[in-house]
Amino acid sequence: MLWSVMGLATKREGAKITALEAKTNWKIEDARSDIKELQHEIEQLNLVVKSLATICQQAGVFTEAQFQDLKDFIDIQDGNLDGKAKSELQPRTCAKCNRQNQKLAKKCMWCEADL
Ligand SMILES: [Zn+2]
Repeated sequence: MLWSVMGLATKREGAKITALEAKTNWKIEDARSDIKELQHEIEQLNLVVKSLATICQQAGVFTEAQFQDLKDFIDIQDGNLDGKAKSELQPRTCAKCNRQNQKLAKKCMWCEADL
């Protein structure tokens, strides 16, 4: 009797672990997909910025030194001269559980509600 009860409890724990692993794998895949999407967007932005900078330099709109000065001027406006400008996209807060999610998340990573 004791052994069969223990066996059932072990099976139940095993099923819980399997379900948790499946959920974790789903979240990892979702995060990988978000990373791929972000990499794609960065590459697109890189192309646009390079194209704009090149055409402006070729047209004599500005020199590379003027571009660097303006870039530093814009960079410091968020308080840090760190080679970055803060994104206007903010992390998304879930309306259901009130936790924060990634900027581009479509579903809440905590409760899976649509964002
Ligand atoms: Zn949520």
